[in-house]
Amino acid sequence: MALFEYAPAPESRSVVDIKPSYGLFINGEFVDPTDGGALKSINPASEEVLAEVAEAGAGDVDRAVRAARAAYEKVWGPMPGRDRAKYLFRIARLIQERGRELAVLESLDNGKPIRESRDVDIPLVAAYFFYYAGWADKLPYAGFGSDPRPLGVAGQVIPWNFPLLMLAWKIAPALAAGNTVVLKPAETTPLTALLFAEICQQAELPAGVVNIVTGAGDTGRAVVTHPGVDKVAFTGSTEVGRGIAKAIAGTRKKLTLELGGKAANIVFDDAPIDQAVEGIVNGIFFNQGHVCCAGSRLLVQESVYDAVLESLKRRMARLRVGDPLDKNIDIGAINSAAQLERIRTLSEIGAQEGAERWSPPCELPDRGFWFAPTIFTGVSQAHRIAREEIFGPVLSVLTFRTPAEAVEKANNTPYGLSAGVWTDKGSRILWMADRLRAGVVWANTFNKFDPTSPFGGYKESGYGREGGRHGLEAYLDV
Ligand code: NAD
Repeated sequence: MALFEYAPAPESRSVVDIKPSYGLFINGEFVDPTDGGALKSINPASEEVLAEVAEAGAGDVDRAVRAARAAYEKVWGPMPGRDRAKYLFRIARLIQERGRELAVLESLDNGKPIRESRDVDIPLVAAYFFYYAGWADKLPYAGFGSDPRPLGVAGQVIPWNFPLLMLAWKIAPALAAGNTVVLKPAETTPLTALLFAEICQQAELPAGVVNIVTGAGDTGRAVVTHPGVDKVAFTGSTEVGRGIAKAIAGTRKKLTLELGGKAANIVFDDAPIDQAVEGIVNGIFFNQGHVCCAGSRLLVQESVYDAVLESLKRRMARLRVGDPLDKNIDIGAINSAAQLERIRTLSEIGAQEGAERWSPPCELPDRGFWFAPTIFTGVSQAHRIAREEIFGPVLSVLTFRTPAEAVEKANNTPYGLSAGVWTDKGSRILWMADRLRAGVVWANTFNKFDPTSPFGGYKESGYGREGGRHGLEAYLDV
């Protein structure tokens, strides 16, 4: 189908030096775990083991929390904001300087295309550090009183879909506000967090301000339930988030939860179809669809349904799936065997429940975890593929006739993280934005992120906001 073939354009993996094994980053040093084991991080595009990382046990988490507490009391808490800012600016600049290395490592460990890690993830990581560095000496002007105080030690647990970006969303505001942190990256994508630990050393960040403990769910549980943690920030699935809320209920810990989503991307008949199709593709195939705010439910106005579907299929036939390090690749590898299994299962259920499945002809590599971009048409609101988060490159297409019906269908979900509206009319955008129960509503665009803009959910998508001035509140005693 392709008009012409692209020659492979691989980014060099020699720019990054991956060690065979990594310890835990506690009190400014890499140390061996005392009571935990080890786990392997693999490249999902080849199933090759990239490195072995330590699995922190409860005793290791305790060491990290103690280091964070001591750093908070003796160094970081009392430090003037203008000095904290200098460290954060230094970290932001080092991220830019080492951007290529970080992008390659992120693509190797996560499976996302280098085009995205290089042009989206890593530039945004630097942008969040620059942005919050700017707040560190201006907290009295943030609208939280004349002398807002930090909370203390933050315990932070993040998912695998945007490993370094989620770290930045957590660590940058926490540090700017004067807190110290113990962060646990996801078990399948720990490597860029460990490279970030090296960047903290390079920036001469005082020991104990940032601690990185690797491991799986048990390590995460030990972080969030540790009595020495004052603030818990979690991004991940609604199920685990619910468990964390229960586990810390009744304690003095402050909690923010960024959970799942099932966003509606709504195309009206007056929308520019070609732009809308680019937005639909970006909304669901960006990052293999491993995006909490992905536009996974497409709502198309009936009068333009045929035109949109034809154009969408034509565009999907041009998407290139394959080696994440190839600069010409649009869709990389699915992050893990477990996630691939989940996507396959839900897709099979979609077909069994009566929706019609379509993928463009697409050759997938033999090794690694891959899933072709897929759409389901004839989807009803009761279908599981319309209700549950698939977290993969799978789009469910529904239709509507009137704006009121679009709102009703869009809001018919337990989630409320994001939504998209495509229309030529400004008044309709505002009308829709007023009625959509979603933390973010994009108009004539999708999946756009900016450090100055708050992000977060309603209902089962969680509570609290990250980003912008709002994001500081979660780390201040207000
Ligand atoms: P997950 O909930 O399985 O895991 C997230 C993190 O929690 C991992 O680090 C994991 O090790 C840890 N964890 C697991 N069990 C734990 C426990 N009992 N206590 C403490 N920590 C525990 O989610 P995932 O599969 O890694 O990520 C995908 C989910 O994340 C999706 O639902 C997605 O929508 C959501 N997400 C949300 C946002 C947002 O901003 N709202 C952003 C990215 C991802």
